Amino acid sequence: MKSKKGLVLVYTGNGKGKTTAAMGLALRAIGHGEKVYMIQFMKGNPDYGEVRATSYLPNFHLVQKGRDCFVKKGDPHPEDLRLAREGAELARQVIAGGEYDLVILDEINVAVDFGLVSEEDVLSLIDLKPEKTTLVLTGRYASEKLMEKADMVSEVREIKHHFKKGIGAQPGIEY
Ligand code: ATP
Ligand code: MG
Repeated sequence: MKSKKGLVLVYTGNGKGKTTAAMGLALRAIGHGEKVYMIQFMKGNPDYGEVRATSYLPNFHLVQKGRDCFVKKGDPHPEDLRLAREGAELARQVIAGGEYDLVILDEINVAVDFGLVSEEDVLSLIDLKPEKTTLVLTGRYASEKLMEKADMVSEVREIKHHFKKGIGAQPGIEY
């Protein structure tokens, strides 16, 4: 088998498709017998399709580290802070453990922008990463330093979104 070079991949921008891009990579990795660990920051809804799907997909572990409501920028609930810190600590353990080929930190860029997780902590996770592990960081507002350090950065740009014409969140599309 060819040796694996793990990468640091960032999906950012204001359009729809960042979290689902990361999940597409997860599916692809699972097809190669790889193990995936996804931590969702600032999310806490067990009814998300991806949370349900992990109960039938082998090798896909997903943990939510947020409350099931919006975080107020500049005034986070103490529980938002506690869960985000727990998420960052869990990420550290999972990455350092080296058991997972693909580690996805979903919405971590927003958690940094909102001050729930420090930028230094995220940058140090990259340094901690074993060679073969791929790390995916999603969310709007990816920091400059993170984008500099990453191997790949894709910005999803909104051209139009169905929310603007009043079509709300739907199962299988938004969650
Ligand atoms: P998805 O989870 O569908 O891949 P995303 O991760 O790119 O979307 P986020 O920025 O995490 O999007 O936003 C979460 C939710 O907000 C998604 O359910 C998405 O449909 C919605 N959303 C994303 N982009 C926009 C937009 N430009 N306008 C309105 N709603 C959006
Ligand atoms: Mg997202």
